[in-house]
Amino acid sequence: MPKSTYLECSLCHEKLDAAKPANLCACGGPLLVRYDLETIRHRWLRREVGNGPANMWRYAPVLPPLSEHIVSLGEGWTPLIRTRRLGARIGAESLWVKDEGLNPTGSFKARGLSCAISMCVELGIRKVAIPSAGNAASALAAYAAAAGIESHIFMPRDVPQANYLECKAYGANVTLVDGLISDLSLIHI
Ligand SMILES: [Zn+2]
Repeated sequence: MPKSTYLECSLCHEKLDAAKPANLCACGGPLLVRYDLETIRHRWLRREVGNGPANMWRYAPVLPPLSEHIVSLGEGWTPLIRTRRLGARIGAESLWVKDEGLNPTGSFKARGLSCAISMCVELGIRKVAIPSAGNAASALAAYAAAAGIESHIFMPRDVPQANYLECKAYGANVTLVDGLISDLSLIHI
């Protein structure tokens, strides 16, 4: 199955090689992953989608890493719960809430970090760092540990103790910083 063909800046539309590590575009814009959707459309048929695993990687053909590089802890496939009364309060006939708290590290951040660490494996990256107010740190620490990748986490000193302990338990290098999450990305290691 063909994977991403290139990265495209969401602001200036500059195209970058998907096989090379990248952060933001030089202009500061976030990068979007572009796929050969025409080829995927013919090789991944609608009736085959339901045969995939019961987790986020059911949709692997339109996610960046090759299947042999996927680092999964079972993220995704969280339940949709129909609210009993909340929908009526906002005038909706029914309202469903997706319970992302059942992801491996207790938040939706598990999805993105599973994908990110999988790409680190694919690109040969052996050391990662993240600024976080809590949940992203826990997810990075868990997936990095699963992949055997060294992780460095920077969190505000008043971060929830549960997130701090979780990161330490996963073997992450944790630095607590006096400041807000916006101050953390200014630290250079
Ligand atoms: Zn750009």
